[in-house]
Amino acid sequence: MTVRIILDTVRPPETSWCWRNDWYSGMCSAYALVLKFGMLNAVSGKEIAKAFISRKCGIKSETCANPNVDLRDARLFDIEIMAEAFRIPPREVRATFLFELLPKSGTKSSEHLRWCEACMARGFHTPIFQMTLVSACPIHQMALRTFCRWCGQSIPYRLRQDLLAMPFCCPHCKADMAPGLRDARASVLVPRPRERIALGETVAFLRLEEETVLAKMEMERRVQQYGQGELIFSRPSADGRMSRYIGFVSQVIDHLRFAKVKAQATLAMEALERAERGMPAAAHPDDEDPALQYPSWGNQIEHMSNSETVGEPRGEAEMRSVTTVYQAVRRHLWKHVIRRHRRCVIAAARHLWWRTDEETTASFCPVAEAYIRWRMSWEGCGTPRYLFGAPRRAFYGVLGWVSSRPSPCPSHWSRPTQHWVIDHIFANACVESFRERLADAMENDAKGTIHWKGAFRPVRYDTYWAVTGSDVQGDPTVVYLRCPMPHPAAAYGLPGGRQHRKTHLAQLATIVR
Ligand SMILES: [Zn+2]
Ligand SMILES: [Zn+2]
Ligand SMILES: [Zn+2]
Repeated sequence: MTVRIILDTVRPPETSWCWRNDWYSGMCSAYALVLKFGMLNAVSGKEIAKAFISRKCGIKSETCANPNVDLRDARLFDIEIMAEAFRIPPREVRATFLFELLPKSGTKSSEHLRWCEACMARGFHTPIFQMTLVSACPIHQMALRTFCRWCGQSIPYRLRQDLLAMPFCCPHCKADMAPGLRDARASVLVPRPRERIALGETVAFLRLEEETVLAKMEMERRVQQYGQGELIFSRPSADGRMSRYIGFVSQVIDHLRFAKVKAQATLAMEALERAERGMPAAAHPDDEDPALQYPSWGNQIEHMSNSETVGEPRGEAEMRSVTTVYQAVRRHLWKHVIRRHRRCVIAAARHLWWRTDEETTASFCPVAEAYIRWRMSWEGCGTPRYLFGAPRRAFYGVLGWVSSRPSPCPSHWSRPTQHWVIDHIFANACVESFRERLADAMENDAKGTIHWKGAFRPVRYDTYWAVTGSDVQGDPTVVYLRCPMPHPAAAYGLPGGRQHRKTHLAQLATIVR
């Protein structure tokens, strides 16, 4: 006798749901999708659960009786049915759930709604807003909200009866969060290509974060096996050039992974600089920078940094060490980069005897402008002439930079190593910031005007770095840095001769107080 087993695979009868294709914005979250659906069909949370909760999940009837489902997690949902209802491919439905997009994001995401008010006003919400690491909207650069502006309460990120009763309203105080959707010609936010890139880069960055965590675990495994140490990365800089940061981090990871396999070729996205802690090099204070002709604080620093530093607050020693680096970079620029324009610099600094902030003046020799403005910002000096006056008591830009940063090293590393690491990172930031000032000055030269705005804030200036190793013999500390980009070539094509100086002086003469 044969037994026939008949599987009950009959689908629930098709209900004709209402949906508008122009209400699907792409890169959006299950939250936005479900709420829009609820709004267009004027259905309750229970009915949505009945339509979208998978029959295979085993708890469909309980869920439908009192829906309370985490919208980060796709497991209870019937993706095929949703794809049909929203007329999009199933893989796009999956991407609306955070845990499908970023599978390891459980502990790093919020179970309460995190939203951008400008996006939400037009019915847009993306799963990456739920990541606690994402603090601002990549489209609007606005801080994300975690509490209702009107009643101060948080909103659950769930499929629930109360949330569907009034879609896109605060469930506590009923404040309308999406007025843009309410009128007949609703303006639904659909990210434009540039905005899609910004969102895509954020996802790429979050994925990279996961990879970094994995690489860190891999490093920890190596610590046990071969005694190899830490892996610490800089935060992405605030300038929003996420793709460069991602390029940098992936390269370091590749480099570490394949350090022993020489044949492994990697895509060179960012040139890397690698420094291994060896014997500290001695500084040579020979230079022609007139600012250092004085028996200044600078020279005292160099003596003191070699002396005993035990028992002294850590910030001061760090500050001294970084100040020495700053002076070394300054000397280097003066000797090897400013070269033929030293007289341009001195003439300009002598001419500009007043505080220049917020002024607009004629442009002059761009190399001189770049050097003067670079020094003004790192030294916290508002008057160009003072740069070559009495020695400064403290470099406020450098001080701000050091004091606003936690040490990048584990605290058990030796102090000299900690200083060595911060010195390297600082030197990189310092050199790179000069390149940027030079590029700005070349632009000003082309325009013919300089706007002396305090646009460059050293405190916030960062470059990309990574620190590895364990500060012991056999596994020394290693710093990876992004190579400074080449200086604008045009700056070196500038003739430094008599004609150039004549033009420069004529331009300066037009600048009067
Ligand atoms: Zn936004
Ligand atoms: Zn509220
Ligand atoms: Zn010049």
